[in-house]
Amino acid sequence: MASIELRNITKRFGDIIAVNNLSLEIQDGEFLVFLGPSGCGKTTTLRLIAGLEHPEVGDILIDGVRTNHLSPADRDIAFVFQFYALYPHLTVFDNLAFPLKAVRIDQSEISGLVQEVARLLQIDRLLDRKPSHLSGGEMQRVALGRAMVRRPKAFLMDEPMANLDAKLRVDMRSELKRLQYELGTTTVFVTHDQVEAMSMADRIAVMHRGVLEQVATPHEVYNKPQSMFVAGFMGSPSMNLLHGCVQSDGGKTLLRLDHTNVSWELSDEQVSNLGSGHREHALVFGIRPEHIRISKEPVNGGIKAAVHLVESIGSVNIIDIFLGEDPETTNLITLRVRTHPSFQVESGQFIYLEFDEKHIHFFDSKTERII
Ligand code: ATP
Repeated sequence: MASIELRNITKRFGDIIAVNNLSLEIQDGEFLVFLGPSGCGKTTTLRLIAGLEHPEVGDILIDGVRTNHLSPADRDIAFVFQFYALYPHLTVFDNLAFPLKAVRIDQSEISGLVQEVARLLQIDRLLDRKPSHLSGGEMQRVALGRAMVRRPKAFLMDEPMANLDAKLRVDMRSELKRLQYELGTTTVFVTHDQVEAMSMADRIAVMHRGVLEQVATPHEVYNKPQSMFVAGFMGSPSMNLLHGCVQSDGGKTLLRLDHTNVSWELSDEQVSNLGSGHREHALVFGIRPEHIRISKEPVNGGIKAAVHLVESIGSVNIIDIFLGEDPETTNLITLRVRTHPSFQVESGQFIYLEFDEKHIHFFDSKTERII
């Protein structure tokens, strides 16, 4: 087990800054997930930790020791790839034994170590088979077993479940989490799948264009996003993000959403949270679809708007509510709301909506960071 520290890491490929001044401490025994869209620098960060890439700037420390100069083999870290990378001509037993033979572990010990890992991964009945006679899930377990058998200081996993079907991914997620918990091995896992990240991580490190946007527990990343990018990336459907402006009107402070006729009075607490710097300023208003209440009957303080589209996805309905149209881009300004499927409405029908005050987020429209 090991702690891993990245200090001000920058990595370029020609003109592309794949990783931009990234600093992060991964605790001993932690399950840390790098999450972000394609090309955001997740794999490069993982490869830097493994020693497969080298930073232009910055240091990588494993257990407090600077490892920049160490080869991948000398870092005592195991890498599990998206593609299983099993030897097709070797049996499962020999695939699992391979990393032990490579470091010259005594033959008498090898069988015991392989059996132990195979039992843990429930592949002990497959030890005589070749990879071509295994299912995708079984191959993935063997690949994991190969990483585990050496008892490395840490596991680095790059989308290891990307090739599995949806059901198997769900099963493997909980199994991997259980295994990691039992072994207590520091694990750094890369994915672009937010559900995978939310369900497995102790902490999620969200990346965007080479920059670490936020690192926090899944609960915090979802409920207290520190930037518009994180707010929009987490959640399905994602958070509603609407441009607006804070204005004083008589003794009241109002929030007006751009290109709509929607405005409402902010509470004293919200006004004080905004701080004087953001009053009378443009900002971005954020609210998740599950934090908007809608009703068919008028409610005191409710905002009247028309239903644009209703999407029924079984356990919930997603309703798009029309608020206006941006005259420059002709983009519709809609708000997505999540409701119980029993809430039946049709396109064109008027409804009344209210925002759950505890779950409103305000972002600076220039910096795109939370206010
Ligand atoms: P994905 O989820 O698609 O694998 P990622 O978040 O893992 O994406 P990286 O693979 O780390 O992203 O790539 C980050 C950026 O660096 C991308 O713009 C990519 O094109 C570029 N890049 C990565 N490796 C190389 C390379 N060997 N040569 C040139 N550019 C590279």
